[in-house]
Amino acid sequence: MLGDGHPMRPVRLQYTDALLRGYGAFEDPGALVVNPRPATREDLLTFHTELYLKMVERLSNGQEVRDADFFGFSEIGDNPVYEGMYEAALLSTGASVQAAELIAGGVALRAFAPAGGLHHAAAGRASGFCIFNDPVIAINALRKRGLRVCYVDIDAHHGDGVQNAFYRESDVMTISVHEGPRWLFPGTGEVHEIGEGNGKGFSVNLPLYPNTPDDVFVSAFDEALIPLIKAFKPDVLATQLGADAYIHDPLTQLGMTTHGYEALLERFDALGYPWLGFGGGGYDLDAVPRCWALVYGIMLGRRWPDALPLGAEVFLESGALRDGAITVEDEVLNQASTWADKKIEDIKRLVFPLHGLAS
Ligand SMILES: [Zn+2]
Repeated sequence: MLGDGHPMRPVRLQYTDALLRGYGAFEDPGALVVNPRPATREDLLTFHTELYLKMVERLSNGQEVRDADFFGFSEIGDNPVYEGMYEAALLSTGASVQAAELIAGGVALRAFAPAGGLHHAAAGRASGFCIFNDPVIAINALRKRGLRVCYVDIDAHHGDGVQNAFYRESDVMTISVHEGPRWLFPGTGEVHEIGEGNGKGFSVNLPLYPNTPDDVFVSAFDEALIPLIKAFKPDVLATQLGADAYIHDPLTQLGMTTHGYEALLERFDALGYPWLGFGGGGYDLDAVPRCWALVYGIMLGRRWPDALPLGAEVFLESGALRDGAITVEDEVLNQASTWADKKIEDIKRLVFPLHGLAS
């Protein structure tokens, strides 16, 4: 398990679980908690290379690998080697695949795998805290059954690994909303990255200006992305629900609060497609459990009260599930919305016509 010194702290999931328990979420008649199974070799090989899997396994067992940094691992970078990381990654990946299978099998209409959403991993390389790319593997499990998937990524970082995996495919549309590449890792996700060959028009990117507040985030989503999702008519909506666009996130500079986050969840809900949710980034330990409790609530059709359940004050300082009102300075708002308007215009010009939508 990653230690507490690493920003991707597992305690994020424990707090989310505790908060949801406090609200009685798992006793809801619509809820089903499933113990994850480890991903199989076959699952992993739908995306990762055999060589990479061997290297991760060796590093995880404490064996020496000469070119570990070639595979994205190093002692000081984003992807430190730790004992048992192979097994841990199998389990979080397996949970995402299982969530996809519950949806594909008609057992669930919505499923949330909060330990997943590790959207940066490449076929042969770890990247940005991600060892296995569980969204790609889970989407492949859906594709295997002939299902078309729209993947929407609201993490503050560009969903590069998922975009690249399906860059030439037309049965998966990838959409990523993120802080612009000039300011944030991984440095990709410009509007002009629209896919290639058969996949042209099926990669969509909305890069945003630092400090972009809720209203700009949500109205850009409505104007530029909802029409594309509807035009694509997916069988399954798969969302990466990283909570690091949050205003106080220590690793990013966007300006989203729980209100903007919840507004996006309401849109996913209203689209009415079978809905698969993954976790993702999120490094403000006070925000992540609250955001992900909102996910689970909306998936269940429940609106948890703002008053936190007894005991949650031990790990949440905010004192309420949703944020209070935040004032946005005019200058910040103007800058962010002028920028977003330009990007919306670009998406309409480059991508809309490829789906029969008027630009
Ligand atoms: Zn992120």
